[in-house]
Amino acid sequence: MISLKNFFLRNVAQTSPSPLMLEIKKAKGIYLYGTDGKKYIDLIAGVSVTNVGHRNIRVINAVRKQLSKFTHTHVYGELVLYPQVRFAQYLDSLLPYEMSSVYFVNSGAEAIEGALKLAKKYTGRTELISFKNAYHGSTHGALSIQGSETYKTSFRPLLPDTRQIEFNNFDDLKYITEKTACVVVEPIQGEAGIIMPENGFLKVLRKRCDETGALLVFDEIQTGIGRTGKMFAFENFDVVPDIITLAKAFGGGMPLGAFIAPKEIMDSLKDNPALGHITTFGGHPVSCAAGYEAMKIVEEKGLHIKAVKKGELFKEHLVHDKIKEVRGTGLFLAVDLGSSNLLFKFMDKSLENGILTDWFLFNDRSFRITPPLTITEEEIKITVKKILKTLDEI
Ligand code: PLP
Repeated sequence: MISLKNFFLRNVAQTSPSPLMLEIKKAKGIYLYGTDGKKYIDLIAGVSVTNVGHRNIRVINAVRKQLSKFTHTHVYGELVLYPQVRFAQYLDSLLPYEMSSVYFVNSGAEAIEGALKLAKKYTGRTELISFKNAYHGSTHGALSIQGSETYKTSFRPLLPDTRQIEFNNFDDLKYITEKTACVVVEPIQGEAGIIMPENGFLKVLRKRCDETGALLVFDEIQTGIGRTGKMFAFENFDVVPDIITLAKAFGGGMPLGAFIAPKEIMDSLKDNPALGHITTFGGHPVSCAAGYEAMKIVEEKGLHIKAVKKGELFKEHLVHDKIKEVRGTGLFLAVDLGSSNLLFKFMDKSLENGILTDWFLFNDRSFRITPPLTITEEEIKITVKKILKTLDEI
């Protein structure tokens, strides 16, 4: 008999030469349960997605409630849909703009595509600047501003008029000029291996954008919804971007993304041409119901605030001679082992020991600690013990 795993390899498009091959039976809280009968502590959280924990009952109930009313009705932006309007209104109450406008989409890459188009349309300029080792998605536009040539070469030609500068390099800000439509930046770089901005870099970047009229886009697709100790990472740095992109945890476990801007900027997408950016499923009512509920949970339970102490607890206890550095803030952490050889040994052994983690797209010396924000202090201590035991064993 051919097993499910064989069909997975045969019929589900493969993206990597060595998939984890872990068959999941169910998930709850910070745990994934395999069909092998084992329980795994999830330190990936679907890559910063399940911030309120797997199968959060409030999110499940919100989904059920919306399912009992309507699912898809019409393409985005034509009908007045309560789950979208309520969510946009709530986001407006959290954001510093005088009046914010939310364009709902389905995913992170789509949010980036929308943000790039909005910046070009609003400024009438074409140049797009981003950062080395930045990840913004895999569609053509998002790939064009990705900060690693390795992933781009096979797909060229990509968008013209793009440039990648170095994160935390003040000199490179001179490349932002009156020709620049926007600068896209992750306020804390994720797939680079959790790299914090240093010495007020984001403030100086903001200033350079103001001087040149370039729009500043913060990609908060991984950092948003409480992961870094604030609801949005920009709040950590006292810098307000012109456009914010959200996805991942934004949908509470359902597919949802958004690009958000002050209404005055967003309104430039309304005409010339009308329908210049459309989506069928963007802002799906069920995803909006789930995302809204998840964000309310983060806010009401103060999960974003508690993430700071939880992150500190990880840092305090993750002391081992094989650990070179623990970087990051809140529950957006990277543990640097200094070599990819050691990291791969760690990955194999940690899975055996019931820990699910991952390295980063542009950093294969570090593994991620980005669990659901609902992880308890007790669970953190258990997790750290398992990590240290694994490090002893490799
Ligand atoms: N931006 C950042 C910072 C991301 O980490 C990702 C995905 O990992 C994306 C954009 C793309 O999101 P999606 O996979 O939903 O297209």
